[in-house]
Amino acid sequence: MKLAAAEIDLSALTHNLRCIKSIAPNTKVMAVLKANAYGHGLVTIAQHLQGADAFAVARIDEALALRAGGLTNPIVLLEGFFNAGDIPILLANNFQAVIHNEAQLIALEQAQLDAPIAVWLKVDTGMHRLGIEPQELELFYNRLKSSANVKSHIHLMTHFSCADDQQNPKTSQQIDTFSHLVDSKQEQICLANSAGIIGWPKSHGDWIRPGLMLYGVSPMVDQVGREHGLQPVMKLTTKVIAIRRLPANEPVGYGGRWQSSKDIMLAVVAMGYGDGYPRHATSGTPVIIKGQRFSIVGSVSMDMITVDIGDNQANVQIGDEVEMWGPNLPVEEVAKHAGTIPYELLCNVTPRVSYEYLNAK
Ligand SMILES: *Cc1c(COP(=O)(O)O)cnc(C)c1O
Repeated sequence: MKLAAAEIDLSALTHNLRCIKSIAPNTKVMAVLKANAYGHGLVTIAQHLQGADAFAVARIDEALALRAGGLTNPIVLLEGFFNAGDIPILLANNFQAVIHNEAQLIALEQAQLDAPIAVWLKVDTGMHRLGIEPQELELFYNRLKSSANVKSHIHLMTHFSCADDQQNPKTSQQIDTFSHLVDSKQEQICLANSAGIIGWPKSHGDWIRPGLMLYGVSPMVDQVGREHGLQPVMKLTTKVIAIRRLPANEPVGYGGRWQSSKDIMLAVVAMGYGDGYPRHATSGTPVIIKGQRFSIVGSVSMDMITVDIGDNQANVQIGDEVEMWGPNLPVEEVAKHAGTIPYELLCNVTPRVSYEYLNAK
């Protein structure tokens, strides 16, 4: 019996890419595949996103894994390179680099290369994580333009800090700051992550950088993917491995943190933080068995979770499938119960979970 499993619906993935293109027509798509394609499986996801114009990852190893998997698409390194020794690897593998600091600029100017590499110059418009200061743009731009190691078209990019919140004026300020800076330049621009794509049409520019929404999940506060026309790609399931009676006022699980005032039946399901299910999911977090919602109760342990199935009118039995999140239970909702964001839950699915890819073309 297969226990913890992640079903990856590849037709939902291609649907989501089409949906993104309809939300932001006339822009090119840089599909963000970092962190094992948000836990969905890097190479297989990339193989089924051939409608994207480029891929983006955070680490050189992730980009090399795509090449090793046979993918020849353009790849952008969102943090560029980390030391001068990386630059020949970028050139040899046709990776494009985000340039966000002076150390990178100097290393690039001084490299001995047979051919130039493509760069994306990143400006910090308010996120204050990576990027050059707005007033540094002219200097960086001119130095990159005059370096023989850099391809002549320099893409210009920035990143939003608060785009998931439509009430926050910060995103409009970032868009304005960026627009003023780049207006006079004949270059391609890229601003929007998923939240920018959904919430801030003015940010669509020449390129967009969707991550989370490719996987069918909403980046917006208090919304779920379906509200944007997206379909969840991952369905995380497991099985019921025991059904037992819990007498009234008897605590269940580590720490005895939960008890019921009446006799109930418990379903023990084979999933825990060892599979990537969040340990901080509180009693009351939903799961689905036989099409019905039930609540997890007590502490999540490494391999198991206890579920309150009441008087078991639904006739839950050993071997029944349990949906932990997926098409019938948004991961956004589970994340809220666990005090985190859906990004973290998807990335944290561990190798113990068996992956199954469905609806490949
Ligand atoms: C991760 C990342 C993205 C994608 O963000 P989503 O919210 O998942 O769409 C876009 N741009 C940069 C720079 C990133 O690091």
